[in-house]
Formats: sequence, C-alpha cells, structure tokens
Amino acid sequence: MSPTPIDPAALDTLRHALGPDRLQRDVVLAPYTTFKIGGPADYFFEARTADELATAVRVAREGAVPYRLLGLGANVVIGDRGVRGLVIHNAAWRIDLDAGAGRIRAESGAIVFPDLIEQAVGAGLSGLEHYVGIPSTVGGALWQNLHFLAPPPKRERTMFIEEVLLEADLLTQENQRRTVDVDYFDFGYDYSILHIRDDVVLSATFQLEPGDQTRMREIMKANLEWRALRHPPLDTEPSVGSIFKKIEGIGAGRLIDECGLKGACIGGVVVTHRHANIMINRGGARAADVQALIAYVQAVVERETGYRLETEIDFVGDFDPPTAANPIVLPRPPGLVTAEERAAMRAERGAA
Ligand SMILES: Cc1cc2nc3c(=O)[nH]c(=O)nc-3n(C[C@H](O)[C@H](O)[C@H](O)COP(=O)(O)OP(=O)(O)OC[C@H]3O[C@@H](n4cnc5c(N)ncnc54)[C@H](O)[C@@H]3O)c2cc1C
Repeated sequence: MSPTPIDPAALDTLRHALGPDRLQRDVVLAPYTTFKIGGPADYFFEARTADELATAVRVAREGAVPYRLLGLGANVVIGDRGVRGLVIHNAAWRIDLDAGAGRIRAESGAIVFPDLIEQAVGAGLSGLEHYVGIPSTVGGALWQNLHFLAPPPKRERTMFIEEVLLEADLLTQENQRRTVDVDYFDFGYDYSILHIRDDVVLSATFQLEPGDQTRMREIMKANLEWRALRHPPLDTEPSVGSIFKKIEGIGAGRLIDECGLKGACIGGVVVTHRHANIMINRGGARAADVQALIAYVQAVVERETGYRLETEIDFVGDFDPPTAANPIVLPRPPGLVTAEERAAMRAERGAA
C-alpha cells in the first residue's frame, strides 16, 4: 500500500525540529501495544519529554503531516497495514512530587502503575492507589477517565481518575499551550473532551490526601488480586482489556458467556475462558482476526439475546478485510477456575 503523500519539505522541517536520527521509518507498532498486534507506522517518533511531545505535534500540524498519539497502546487495535503518517509514541515520563502540598505532577507519558502510584504511595499520598494494575499512561488515563470498581472490600462504586485531577497542561488543537482545570475535560464514563477535541495532554497534576501507608498497600494488594482472578496476565496472554462497552445492569461479558462464546477463536485471537469480554492474542494474531471475531460475537449475541454489543476500543490505521475463517472453539484450559466460579463455591460453602 502506498503511503499518503506527505510534503517532503514538511518532513524536513519535522526532522530538523526533532533532532538528528530521531524520526524513524517503517516501525512495526505491535510491540508498542498490549495486544501485540499492528503493522508499521510510516514515520515514528518517540517523545521523551513533554516539550518534545509538544514540538512533534505542533510541527506535524503546521506541515499537515497526519499524526497519531500512542501511550501504552492498551486501548487500541492497530490495523495490519499499519498507520500512514507519523505515530508519536509518548515516553515523556518525568514525575515531580510536592509532598507538602499533596501534589504530584507527571508528564503524560508517565506510566500510571507502577511509576506514578508507587511514587505517590511511597510519599504517603492517597487517591491514586485504586488504579493499581491498570495498563495506562497519564495521557491515556485522562483520555478515557480511568476507572475501577473500588474500594475493597465492598467495591460499591466506580472511582474515576477525574476525582484526583487538579489541572493539566495541554497543547490545544489550536496549537496553544494552556493549563486547564478538571472541569475543562467534561469527564464521563470512558469519556473526556479529548474524544472530540484534538488537544494533547502534556502533563497532569493530581491533588492527593495524606493517607495511611498500610491501608493503601492493603488496597493495592486487594485490587491486584481481584484483577489477577479476572484478567488474563498481559505478559503471557496479550489483550486490550474489555472489548465491548458495558450494558448497564446486564453486562456484556455475561451475555457473551450465556451464548457459550468463551473459547471462540478465529486465527490467533480467542475469547478467553477467564473473562468473556476479553479476547487474547494466543500468538501471531492479526487485526483481521480481531475484527472477524468481534463481528462473530456481535452477530451471535444479537441473534440469541437481541442486544447489540458495541466496541469500546479504538481502531487505528489501515485494516485488511476481516479473516474469512469459520470460528472454532478452544477447550477450557485444565485447572482454570473463574472468579464467578470461586464466588459461587464460597457462597455454597457459606450456605452449607
Ligand atoms: C488488561 C487490561 C485491563 C484494563 N483495565 C482497565 C480498567 O480497569 N479500567 C479502565 O478504565 N481501563 C482499563 N483498561 C483500558 C486501558 O488501560 C485504558 O484505556 C488506558 O487509559 C489506556 O492508556 P494508554 O496510555 O495505553 O492509551 P493508548 O491506548 O495508547 O491511547 C488511547 C487513546 O488515548 C489517546 N491519548 C493517549 N495519550 C494522550 C495524550 N497525552 N493526550 C491526548 N490523548 C492521548 C490516544 O490518542 C488514543 O486515542 C484495561 C486495558 C487492558 C489491556
């Protein structure tokens, strides 16, 4: 596939602005995602500071070079044909702590866990520990208003990262650097204004409360254990987290499970037996497999239950047609006990 023509003068300006040898060609993006799927970016730049990030975006915009931002790639499926234009990988990681004021400021490529959370908790500051174990950069966390069912043991409500956000530095879509407060983001469930405005988060400051270290560590341990029972481990079973949006009071995963779709597999992608709303890359998966399996799950669930599942992940770049293979069903791994089964066993023991 031939790349979108980009003005060679704009590329020269970009090369000059970014520094010698920093603009790379044809970089395969799969390793930059948690799903380990995706073809090459025509041009690729790794921003190591917030200033580098701002420069790359500003110069790309001025030269009409199409660009995409990538954090940890934990919420995106990248097409097998890759991404035309420039992909900016955000590795701006600096974190500054003002323990006296209870504030922590992080560049937007900083990793939420462990980097940001460990620094906050280590300084005795509470508010971020609930998001332990969720793969995300700070920029990605603001983009989607990172959330988790917490605190343990009751887990009665969904907590959102907006609750501890004080302000953020942006490069706005008008190419202005601006500091905005939490209201600017218009946060909702899986939503922020970044979905409709082309602003780039350069850094964010969180306002935290003094907390008891022992209690924070307990919350972290409980949340990590909770996640380990429900989520496939990313290092051995790459995924992009939940595929479909939740359906209030019903649960997308429950519908998929009731339709007997755990283990459904097309090519290298399978609906994991651990969690019906998560698909894993069992090796060599292609975005075309993901798209085919998503379409298959949607069709079966709609036919059997009447509900139309909608995806909650971002599809980025150029895609091949979905894999034209019939799904097979992979057996459940021996010894696997799901969180729901554990809960049922506990309830049974309690009743006996
Ligand atoms: C195993 C697993 C479990 C998960 N569990 C949860 C969970 O419990 N709760 C939850 O909320 N999410 C969860 N997710 C989803 C994921 O962790 C979040 O969506 C996360 O915030 C993505 O961050 P990222 O850095 O990977 O963003 P990316 O996937 O790289 O990008 C996502 C979007 O954010 C935009 N973006 C990234 N950085 C910036 C920036 N600096 N400025 C503006 N836009 C930006 C990108 O352009 C893109 O559109 C899970 C994912 C996985 C794989």
